[in-house]
Amino acid sequence: MKKGLVVDREAKYIGVYIDGKVYTGIPRKKVLKKTKIYAGDYVLGKIIDNENFAIEQIENRKNLLIRPKVANVDKALILQTLKMPPFDDFLLDNLLVIYDYFQVEPVIVFNKIDLLNEEENKELTDIENLYKNAGYQVYKVSTKTGEGIDKLKKSLEGDIIITAGPSGTGKSSLVSKILNIDLETGDVSKKTERGRHTTTGIKLFKFGENSFIADTPGFSSVDASLFMDKKEIKNHFREFLRYSCKFSDCTHTKEPGCKVKEAVEKGEISPKRYENYLKILEKAK
Ligand code: GDP
Ligand code: ZN
Repeated sequence: MKKGLVVDREAKYIGVYIDGKVYTGIPRKKVLKKTKIYAGDYVLGKIIDNENFAIEQIENRKNLLIRPKVANVDKALILQTLKMPPFDDFLLDNLLVIYDYFQVEPVIVFNKIDLLNEEENKELTDIENLYKNAGYQVYKVSTKTGEGIDKLKKSLEGDIIITAGPSGTGKSSLVSKILNIDLETGDVSKKTERGRHTTTGIKLFKFGENSFIADTPGFSSVDASLFMDKKEIKNHFREFLRYSCKFSDCTHTKEPGCKVKEAVEKGEISPKRYENYLKILEKAK
């Protein structure tokens, strides 16, 4: 059997990518009895002719996001800016928790670095170091000048990727840049999908050797506490996982022998990150 990737999903249409070509996927009845088919699904089956592919089987999914509805997402590019719009660390920390929870590797991308003066550059370097030390990947780019784009692109080889982050941070500009589409702004799906009647579908666009990026962004702003049990939240602040507290179920709030609180006091964990953790917990009540 041949293996393909569902790269286009709209209404009844299923586009399956195999070796540089997109076939119309025709699922066998037994397949649809078991599950729906989503963009990002890896499918097994047979090429019928030049245009059609019979889908016999769907591989088990590593994850299935609800927004956008894409399966097997490897990475979320979380777009941020120091200014225009101003950096919101609480929002970033919420998004980091959510994508980590869905087993999507969060990649922090600071865009619009062309707007920064020397002092602001230093400020951004401090933020960059803070998140790198906490255990996250951080990239600095400008979709306007192209700075940093190649390095980011190379790091994404072989992955299924979505973008996320506040409106105006440059998500659609980044997707255009990654795909080498010369667009200033706007909705990528609208501008690249001439003749498409509705915009309800989801498409994955190929770039590089074997990487795919969705045309629809993920969460712009959201509370992590809506997605998981309160007790789960601490497991998605990566730097907390380096410490073993006296009690294994320590919530890192009032317990004696809390190594996380000690680490905050010693300056090993950022007080800001710890504060945001407490804020997320508070909201979860
Ligand atoms: P989205 O809402 O996150 O999809 O953001 P857009 O891609 O629509 O970009 C929002 C605005 O920021 C647009 O006016 C873009 O031209 C602008 N923009 C995007 N990237 C950059 C950048 O690297 N530098 C500057 N100066 N402006 C940018
Ligand atoms: Zn603790």
